[in-house]
Amino acid sequence: MDRRSEVKEGTQGREDPRRALPSVDRLARELRAGTPELPDWCAAEAARGVVAEARRALEVGEPAPEASELLERARSQARALARPRPARVVNATGVVLHTNLGRAVLAPGAARAVAEAAAAYGDLELDLASGRRGDRLAAVDRLLARAAGAEAGMAVNNNAAAVLLVANGFAQGREVVVSRGELVEIGGSFRVPDVMQRAGARLVEVGTTNRTRLADYAAAIGPETGLLLKVHRSNFEQRGFVEDASLEELVALGRERGVTVAEDLGSASLVDLRGHGLPPESWAPGRIASGADVVCFSGDKLVGGPQAGLLLGRAEAIAALRRNPLSRALRLDKLTLAALDWTLRAVLEGRAEREIPVLRQLAEPLDRLEERARALARRLQKAAAVAGGAPVRVDLERGRSPVGGGSLPGFELDTWLVVLRSADGAEAVAARLRHASVPVLSRIRDDRVLLDPRTLLPGDESDLESALAGAGPDDASPRKLG
Ligand SMILES: *Cc1c(COP(=O)(O)O)cnc(C)c1O
Repeated sequence: MDRRSEVKEGTQGREDPRRALPSVDRLARELRAGTPELPDWCAAEAARGVVAEARRALEVGEPAPEASELLERARSQARALARPRPARVVNATGVVLHTNLGRAVLAPGAARAVAEAAAAYGDLELDLASGRRGDRLAAVDRLLARAAGAEAGMAVNNNAAAVLLVANGFAQGREVVVSRGELVEIGGSFRVPDVMQRAGARLVEVGTTNRTRLADYAAAIGPETGLLLKVHRSNFEQRGFVEDASLEELVALGRERGVTVAEDLGSASLVDLRGHGLPPESWAPGRIASGADVVCFSGDKLVGGPQAGLLLGRAEAIAALRRNPLSRALRLDKLTLAALDWTLRAVLEGRAEREIPVLRQLAEPLDRLEERARALARRLQKAAAVAGGAPVRVDLERGRSPVGGGSLPGFELDTWLVVLRSADGAEAVAARLRHASVPVLSRIRDDRVLLDPRTLLPGDESDLESALAGAGPDDASPRKLG
């Protein structure tokens, strides 16, 4: 008799099979007895979830799970609950700005500044010289303008907030003109038309998907026009029969017709990385020099600071945004402020390329990457020898790092890769790495696992080694981020 029919019989008889399930309390107690390091709330919540799930299964005639299986399920759910989020992972993908892995990593100095600002009182809104109330943002805004070579600067929560503020500030109740080729969706459901609507602006689309000329913008300008907005495509490329009006052309048109011109650059750098193959428009000072009223971009992506929205441009335009009541709702908190302050000082003091992880990763020379890949391959050969499953072969090969993720489409840098091959298949090896106590994220190509040293941080190599040797999450206690 299979277990399914056992349950059916039980249902027909007087005995309710749900009574065979342990109570939530009993399951939670057993869980804590076997795994005392689990916090009580995790054990209780996991037990509740597992028992409820088993009840639902019984109600639709599925077999009752064994007590030991219930306990195992509850243990695994409780462990997942007990793991701090976000938990640290090793990024071996070579994608410097990986949207799913938290994009830029802060410099250790910036991280320390955050920790200090968080754990003590500070002169956030106090002018120490006079003892009067001061402006927490004025100082960082001045650093920002200086670092970017702009008349004025302003920082808000993130770049999505910066775009919202620009649209609301210059086009609320009026029209904003955007090219049909730039009505993009960025990750996290940031869609340009929706943001314009929420900002209270009426979107006027001009041009076509592939070609928008300056004349299209000129023809769309009327008495209701508040803003000409250019948007960086960020996560896709257009090639072939394409045409765009340049920012310089838009600025000249805006001047002539008395309309504000802004650009959402998405990602831009405060340090000149053009020598490392980055597209010229990603150097923020060059973009600001075009004379646009405002350009905005993320504080993390290519700046390498905290997530923030950096607005830079002409003094009156920035002053108008500062007066907008939305800017209070979008303002930086003190932790972001501390990290941004540190990052901007690193830029101004010429330490950025040395100390900011994103910039170091983008600028890492190929011979250094080869050295690191070679050293990693040697360590992984040893780890592979003690790993279970089919043997893993470890090789070295030239490749490309897709550094941009969702920020710089098609932008790749030369690198050296450690390549893992196994008869178990690449998916199985990648899954083993991902399920390690410090999960490792890799890329898969042609049934091979690729590990790119470019995005490995100091100390990651030994976690990679244990991951390949097969240490699962249950072999070590969860480790905190940082
Ligand atoms: C990334 C990006 C945004 C959103 O920036 P966040 O910092 O994630 O808020 C907006 N616009 C463009 C063009 C982007 O690339």
